Amino acid sequence: MLNIILMGPPGAGKGTHATWIEKQYQIPHISTGDMFREAMASGSELGNKVKDIINRGDLVSDELTCALVKERLSKPDCAAGYLLDGFPRTIPQAEALEKMGKEISRPVTLVVNISCPDEELIKRIGGRRVCPKCGASFNVNSMKPKVEGICDECGAELIQRKDDNEASLRIRLENYYKSTQPLLDFYKERDLLADFDGMLGKEKLKVVITELLDSKK
Ligand code: AMP
Repeated sequence: MLNIILMGPPGAGKGTHATWIEKQYQIPHISTGDMFREAMASGSELGNKVKDIINRGDLVSDELTCALVKERLSKPDCAAGYLLDGFPRTIPQAEALEKMGKEISRPVTLVVNISCPDEELIKRIGGRRVCPKCGASFNVNSMKPKVEGICDECGAELIQRKDDNEASLRIRLENYYKSTQPLLDFYKERDLLADFDGMLGKEKLKVVITELLDSKK
C-alpha cells in the first residue's frame, strides 16, 4: 500500500514530484498548501482565517491543519493509497497523523524526503511560477513551460505565489529547520524514511523514486 508522505524544504521539488507520482500510481495528491490556497481564492471562512499567516510565511495552527487532513484522508479515494505533500510539518501534526491513521486504518507506509541546500532553494523559489488552477509548478530558469507564462497541463496563466518572496521565504526556511526537520528522526525511528538528494535533477530523481515506490506497491 502506498500511503506516502512527501517531505522536504520549500522549493525542494515536492509539488513537481507529487504531480507525476499521483498520475503514475493513481493515488490522490493531498497538498495542505494547495487546500489553503484554494480556500483563500474562494474567500471562505477558512481562507480568511489563514490568509495573513500564509502570506507572511508562518505555519497555520496544528488544530486547523489536522482537522482539514483528517476529513480529506477519510474520503473514499484515499482507501487505495494517498500522497501527502506539505503535511505533517510539526511533531504534533505527525503524532496526530499517526493517531488518525490508526483510527481510519490508513497508516503511513513510507516517507519520501527530498533534501536540498539553502542556496539552491532560494534560487528555485525566486524563479518558481505556479498554476493557480491545477497547481502545476514551473521555473523561469530551469523548468520553463512550453509557452511562456502558460501552464502546460491545463492552459491557465501562471502566477508567482504571494509567499514566494525573500521575507516570507526566510520565515518558511526558519520554520522548516525548527519545526519540520525534526520529523526526519521521528520517521527514521519508525523505519519509514527514504532520503533523496534534490540536486539529482527531476529525471534522475524520478527514476530512483519510481524504483522505490514499485518495490512498495
Ligand atoms: P506549501 O504550499 O506546502 O509551501 O504551503 C504554503 C503555506 O501553507 C505554508 O507556508 C504554511 O503557511 C501553510 N501550510 C501548508 N501546510 C501546512 C501544515 N502542514 N501546517 C501548517 N501550515 C501549513
